[in-house]
Amino acid sequence: MASLSPLLRQSSPVHAVRGEGVHLIDEAGRRYLDFTAGIGVTSTGHCHPRVVEAARRQVGQLIHGQYTTVLHPRLEELAARLGDRLPPGLDAVFFASAGTESVEAAVRLAKQATGRTNIVVFQGSFHGRTAGSLAMTTSKAAIRAGVQPLMGGVFVAPFPHPYRWGWDADTATEFCLRELDEVLATQTAPDETAALVVEPVQGEGGYVPATAGFLRGLRDVCDRHGIVLIVDEIQTGVGRTGRFWGHEHFDVRPDVLVTAKGLASGFPLSAFAASSELMSRGRLGSQGGTYGGNAVACAAAIATLEVVDDEGLVDRAAERGAQLAAGLRALAAGQGAVGDVRGLGLMVGAELVDGDGRPDGALAARVLAEAADRNLLLLACGPHGQVVRFIPPLIVDEAQVTEAVDIFGESLAKAVAAA
Ligand code: PLP
Repeated sequence: MASLSPLLRQSSPVHAVRGEGVHLIDEAGRRYLDFTAGIGVTSTGHCHPRVVEAARRQVGQLIHGQYTTVLHPRLEELAARLGDRLPPGLDAVFFASAGTESVEAAVRLAKQATGRTNIVVFQGSFHGRTAGSLAMTTSKAAIRAGVQPLMGGVFVAPFPHPYRWGWDADTATEFCLRELDEVLATQTAPDETAALVVEPVQGEGGYVPATAGFLRGLRDVCDRHGIVLIVDEIQTGVGRTGRFWGHEHFDVRPDVLVTAKGLASGFPLSAFAASSELMSRGRLGSQGGTYGGNAVACAAAIATLEVVDDEGLVDRAAERGAQLAAGLRALAAGQGAVGDVRGLGLMVGAELVDGDGRPDGALAARVLAEAADRNLLLLACGPHGQVVRFIPPLIVDEAQVTEAVDIFGESLAKAVAAA
């Protein structure tokens, strides 16, 4: 007899047995409005009929066509379909299962292609939990605690956080670009630096959008020094932010794009894309994995991309996201516990603060519990768990957004009163 690891904790008491669109359903038939989407994964909603059908069909044909042994049609078809969506010039794709695998594969490529050893990440980053990506993760000390020292050659520069610093966006941007120059002048010389790795909207770090000036500044640094610009779109990709890729908000051209989560509506699939020229400068044998590019996951991803197009989910994310942010801002105006509402598209965070304006993770935890009691599932993020984040499936409708904002408001009022 074994039980689950006690270190694996859930943020809600729900035992989900079924998923339907924007809802999760427990053993007793209780329905929850799911504004977590499995941490931004079930982009087309739980069990979208077209994704289910594509996966079912594929299960009957080929489940596993191990891709360093054989090729299979879904893998090639998905690479081609994704190619229609990738930024110009990114015409070669590697597939894996978890996001962290693709992050690490992208970093391996950047190191091999440049012959350089170091990378720079940005304060508040989340890139994964395996040894390499953990060293690149700075969103919360608990994630790294007890396993340091981690992989060397990772340097951390600031990410613009106007709200936290009490600065305007331009001042925060200028500060970050100056500090990046300082990191390159004092810690990792440009000719030792293989890549800058950045999220267009920091996810686990607290739903903090980058600024256009910051990302353009990174592009400029990379161009000047032959450094590879890797954008981690694992959480921001596939329509989540109201554009197909999050970086499109900022008019910046990445050298490498990493994606996962929403790509296959819940099947484990990740990918990174680069130009075939850059890809060919990596070493043969450095890419592989037993489960990467699984045939059923690829079939689900192809169906996901079709649904995203046919149901206009990118525009929908923009519209419903605007509604969500406006609703939360209206709520925030009424009382002091919500210090900031920020995000892009359907990736919106409400930062909760105490009476002195300090991050209040305990309040966020109470809000999550109150919301779950009212059948709304939410998550927290940020270094102190102080940001309540809203990441519903992209199919969420107007009434569901209104319902979620109302429940959040009631939950917040109750949680504040209980403090
Ligand atoms: N990068 C970002 C931006 C993420 O949000 C995540 C997961 O939350 C990862 C990387 C790691 O992905 P995975 O958990 O699939 O390894």
